[in-house]
Amino acid sequence: MDHGVDLDRVAALKHAEDELFAATHPRSRELLARARQTMPLGVPLSWMSFLYDHPPIFVDAADGAFFTDVDGHRYLDMSLGITVASTGHTPVPVVRAVTERMTKGIQFVLPTEDAAVVSEELARRWRLPKWQYQLSSTQAVTDGIRLARMRTGRERIVVFEGKYHGHLAELLAVAGDGGTVSEYLGVTGHDTARTTSVPWNDLDAVSRALAAGDVALLIQEPVLTNSGIVFPSDGFHTELRRLTREHGTLLAIDETQTLPMAFGGLVREWGLEPDLVILGKSLGGGVPVAALGMTEEISELIDREHLPYEVSGETVDEPGIGGTLFGNALSMAAARAALLEVWTEETHRRMQELASVLAAGMKSVIRSHGRDWDVYQLGNRAGYRFAPRPPRNNQEAGEFDLPPVRHLQRVFMANRGVWDFGWWGGPAISAQTIAADVDAYLGVFAEFTDELLA
Ligand code: PMP
Repeated sequence: MDHGVDLDRVAALKHAEDELFAATHPRSRELLARARQTMPLGVPLSWMSFLYDHPPIFVDAADGAFFTDVDGHRYLDMSLGITVASTGHTPVPVVRAVTERMTKGIQFVLPTEDAAVVSEELARRWRLPKWQYQLSSTQAVTDGIRLARMRTGRERIVVFEGKYHGHLAELLAVAGDGGTVSEYLGVTGHDTARTTSVPWNDLDAVSRALAAGDVALLIQEPVLTNSGIVFPSDGFHTELRRLTREHGTLLAIDETQTLPMAFGGLVREWGLEPDLVILGKSLGGGVPVAALGMTEEISELIDREHLPYEVSGETVDEPGIGGTLFGNALSMAAARAALLEVWTEETHRRMQELASVLAAGMKSVIRSHGRDWDVYQLGNRAGYRFAPRPPRNNQEAGEFDLPPVRHLQRVFMANRGVWDFGWWGGPAISAQTIAADVDAYLGVFAEFTDELLA
């Protein structure tokens, strides 16, 4: 489709911006060259290199809505570590709680009072009575799948095209010729054999996938967040819940990225009724912690009072779910401080207001160039795509996108002190972002569109 952008101009601008970026980051370049001796791509996690179309920079320190790199540049952070740092960096209550906890010890494989407080708070907000903890959402999803299989005695998992629920092999699957195929190298047909992937917003496809009665769990986000934001069509969630109940399939809602969008996430905001909820990323103000919320019925599977019991003809004495670092005292102290002192109703309201100012500003900049591109806002996030209406699924999200422009926008904004979101999503407001920061973002965004659409 014609997106109304001159791609030759984009390539020329990108070349100039890349040169500027390289010239102004000598220390990062040096460190990258050194680190390549001992880490593939010079980074501790290969994604850090794949995420952007410019070399990674090395960070020095952060404070609130800003961070600085080793070359002394200061960035307004609108990416927030893919939302992990949505509390803003170095959130004061979390720093205090974590510092105090470190002096009192953090690893016991025993609970602290913080765990009880966090669970009460999560139960109140997400309206699921029982909680267990992990260190990443991938691990919460893994444990959720185990419980769903135990509970239903079934094996198959259904996901949506364009999803991301973490790096466990069996969910790194996409619909392909004659079934589900591997999404990444090293994921085998064996890994993905029990996973079905269906298009977002396609209830007929969901209905067909559930019809055989062999699906343990359907796992979804409230909105797709890893293909830009792709919204559900009217009534989609209600119908999904009806269908999963009708077919005896459990429903998991992954709020890993949507937690900062509203108090109690979109589950509470939209009145969704999952059997399992996955929280992670920003739950502990940046400190690793993830949570799996569950119904009373599911929690009985790991409740000593109900053991031993029979599942699919096997006697269960001990469910064997979890890891030694899970639920550690440091993670729980961080989650308590983040929930009670940062993730308040007032914080979410303020973030939503700023995001709507951001979206309105982006829209007015885009309209001033005579473009009718769709601009969206949801919770603390905003964004745009190169088409007049929102996409219905991830395939359309791809068609409505222009990766070369996204790559240019990132490096252009970085060269002017704004660390924008990656190509797959629009800018995000943190709990410490203020109105002047939104103005600053919009100023650089206007400069970018002037260059792009001149
Ligand atoms: N679910 C969603 C919706 C995500 O976006 C991500 C990470 N991007 C995950 C799960 C996995 O989280 P983690 O990398 O912390 O395991």
